[in-house]
Amino acid sequence: MTQEPKDGVTKYSFERRELAGSRDPAVDDLIRFRSELFVREAIGCDRRRYDACYGNVSARVGPWAAPTGRRAFLVSGTQTGEKRETSADDYVTVVRYDHDQNRVWAEGPVDPSSESLTHASIYDADLAVRAVVHGHERQTWLWLLAHGAPQVPKAVAYGTPEMAAAARTLVAESRQKPWRLPNVLAMAGHEDGVVAWGDSVADATRRFLAVYDAARIR
Ligand SMILES: [Zn+2]
Repeated sequence: MTQEPKDGVTKYSFERRELAGSRDPAVDDLIRFRSELFVREAIGCDRRRYDACYGNVSARVGPWAAPTGRRAFLVSGTQTGEKRETSADDYVTVVRYDHDQNRVWAEGPVDPSSESLTHASIYDADLAVRAVVHGHERQTWLWLLAHGAPQVPKAVAYGTPEMAAAARTLVAESRQKPWRLPNVLAMAGHEDGVVAWGDSVADATRRFLAVYDAARIR
């Protein structure tokens, strides 16, 4: 894919080196906890509502101490939303990313999710973050918006450098002053979009499910 500046917006693009699926143990966690989100339909495909598949998960790989822009992570590939079970072949390693260029460099068997840069910005915000999960779940989203959870403003569009910057700011802020259910944010302008993060895939998923459950208490 090439970069195509359009209306002053730099379109998301990526470069990918074809490589076999990763054998990093983080893949097993991604496979396992992604299915927790899939069975709750927070990851999946809804052609009617979004005309697309939605939701993605990621986990940092390699040393904790890495400069921003180079905090490598495994992320689910595009068009994997339909699968009930994923395998190592559904994940790709983002080795480098550039928010200004809205571009990622990846290695693996599938193309990186178009929301990879939102994940990257959360890793840039805090070295302690080792996993990010992003799902679309209407009840959870509405509940977060109604209860004053950290949120990316409505005007910020999906897949833009502005989305990445806003997510980064919210994550950094929440480190100083956590919301009552910590490590979650809602994307007001990205229908039903919810993001959670943590020090492991299990932790990030638990944070997501904490708000999923809270939204269902009557
Ligand atoms: Zn999304």
